[in-house]
Amino acid sequence: SLQSAARRAGTSCANCKTTTTTLWRRNQNGEPVCNACGLYYKLHNVNRPLTMKKEGIQTRNRKLSSKSKKKKGSSSCLALSGVMSDMIKPLVSFQIF
Ligand SMILES: [Zn+2]
Repeated sequence: SLQSAARRAGTSCANCKTTTTTLWRRNQNGEPVCNACGLYYKLHNVNRPLTMKKEGIQTRNRKLSSKSKKKKGSSSCLALSGVMSDMIKPLVSFQIF
């Protein structure tokens, strides 16, 4: 039992390569996998994809690019900004008086 405990200390997940997990599990090949990967395989019958973190970054970039595209593309935005500046001018003069 002491030998198996020593082995566990150097264990890394066969799927995501993590060395820290609350519970070690085994995959279909008998290799050690972390708790998250083991549970994912039980639920979906496929290995847990490791691109989840990257997807989070991509959605952030998408939001930024869509905003900049809207500003550049539509001419109605320019017309609106012109109207806005006309509306702001009297408001500013009111504040001065
Ligand atoms: Zn894992």
